[in-house]
Amino acid sequence: MDLAFSKDDLAFREEVRRFIDENFDAEMRAKLAQSKNGYLDKDGQLKWQRALYKRGWAAPNWPVEYGGTGWTPSQKYIFESETAAAGTPLVSPMGLKMVAPVLMAFGSDAQKKKYLPPVLASEVWWCQGYSEPGSGSDLASLQMRCEDKGDHYLLNGSKIWTTHAQWADWMFNLVRTKQGAKPQEGISFILVDMKTPGIRVEPIVTLDVPVASQQEINQVFYDDVKVPKENLIGEENRGWTYAKFLLGHERTNIAGIGASKRELQRLKQRAASQPKGDASMLQDPVFATRIAQVDMELRALEITNMRVIFAEARQQAPGPEASMLKIRGTEILQCISELQVDLLGADALVQGGDVGEAARSTSAYLNLRKLSIFGGSNEIQRNIIAHMILGL
Ligand SMILES: Cc1cc2nc3c(=O)[nH]c(=O)nc-3n(C[C@H](O)[C@H](O)[C@H](O)COP(=O)(O)OP(=O)(O)OC[C@H]3O[C@@H](n4cnc5c(N)ncnc54)[C@H](O)[C@@H]3O)c2cc1C
Repeated sequence: MDLAFSKDDLAFREEVRRFIDENFDAEMRAKLAQSKNGYLDKDGQLKWQRALYKRGWAAPNWPVEYGGTGWTPSQKYIFESETAAAGTPLVSPMGLKMVAPVLMAFGSDAQKKKYLPPVLASEVWWCQGYSEPGSGSDLASLQMRCEDKGDHYLLNGSKIWTTHAQWADWMFNLVRTKQGAKPQEGISFILVDMKTPGIRVEPIVTLDVPVASQQEINQVFYDDVKVPKENLIGEENRGWTYAKFLLGHERTNIAGIGASKRELQRLKQRAASQPKGDASMLQDPVFATRIAQVDMELRALEITNMRVIFAEARQQAPGPEASMLKIRGTEILQCISELQVDLLGADALVQGGDVGEAARSTSAYLNLRKLSIFGGSNEIQRNIIAHMILGL
């Protein structure tokens, strides 16, 4: 793994910086400064994602034949570092990083042709219908009924914690097509148009000082929803295989190195400007040690992440190391958000209508508790490591 940048790499870095200057505009910057989770509202997200698309940079993780960038690992690294340093919006993963790899691996030619180009262009917004009120970690127990009615499927049940379902045009779902001997055996993977009659999206109010434009999660109800047969991915009852493939991709993307770097930089700047006696909080030995500790952990994680990126470049699917990235990445981001709140002291106790840095930090702190729960909780990731790496 050679991280020394070539002349071409340095030229590419300039190109990336120019792109950021030209497209990450003042309006986006101002909105993002208020964001608790690195995302903008839907319009802002689409503006950024479409700018990437126009430049041909929407999908660094896709193969070139589908519109991927064809970047070398060092170009990927440069792009991630530069966008993180500039604090650009995160890209919504549900279309580009979750359903797209599944379509490429298991979809029919007609499905690839229909769904992949609009994902690349951010013309459709996707959401993920895995979890149900009774099924989270034990996902294989899911019960959303999917009956074969001859010329269509009929779906009944409910999905929960569905991120950005209120914005979504399409949802990829795990559904039960058979009550098998093993629960994993009767699951199928199906795509559903959110405009289909019988679908109802209800917001879930969260603790993190919700602002309407920043509402994140929902419960989605399915009441006799008719879905065309051609929306099934791969074979009936083989959905568990596709679901596991997708989760591997979800976890590598979840390391959140870019977000952690951006937040750490923001923390250091704020600590430097906050007085402590004759010096600043950044010079306070106890606080500085805590910052240094998390900084070191982030750098170590970044190298581990690079190793995974290089392995992926050699066409190796992400394995249990994705679980390591998920655990460390989420712990680090949560730790930085704790330091941001600690830095505020009593000012962190904001009121519902407050805006500004304190409200944002507290809101982000509360919001980011989700990181150790979603994408497979950190306890579940530890189980995977125990089983697949340690052989326990
Ligand atoms: C903000 C947010 C957004 C989300 N977005 C989506 C989305 O878009 N789409 C989607 O499908 N889902 C989404 N989820 C759901 C998420 O994937 C689940 O919350 C997660 O899988 C955990 O499931 P659960 O909430 O049912 O908790 P449970 O599975 O009930 O777990 C409760 C606790 O028990 C622990 N636990 C459970 N089983 C074990 C075990 N075997 N060993 C050790 N500990 C265990 C868990 O770690 C956890 O601490 C989201 C969740 C959150 C919080």
